Amino acid sequence: MPIYEYRPSEKGCSYCTRGFDTLQKMSDAPITCCPRCGNGVRRVISRFSACTVETADSPSLENKLQDYESQGMWSHAAELADKSGLQDRAMDDYKKAGYNF
Ligand SMILES: [Zn+2]
Repeated sequence: MPIYEYRPSEKGCSYCTRGFDTLQKMSDAPITCCPRCGNGVRRVISRFSACTVETADSPSLENKLQDYESQGMWSHAAELADKSGLQDRAMDDYKKAGYNF
């Protein structure tokens, strides 16, 4: 069952201004007003599906790192690892790139 998120279309109460989620069937009509204050609300895409974050476990990140490393592009690999929170990997690649710590 999808989770829908609602936001007030204009001014709302403390409940709807923050935005609220509701579990609805696909066939249910969208909610048009806040259950607390009755102001108009609009449905927005749920934050659960709105973005995909590339994490350290992401295979594409690992592929990119291996790609850089296999081509000897150590500083590129190090930078990518660093940005992705892979500190050990970054240090390793920085050393290979000729940086001294
Ligand atoms: Zn409200």
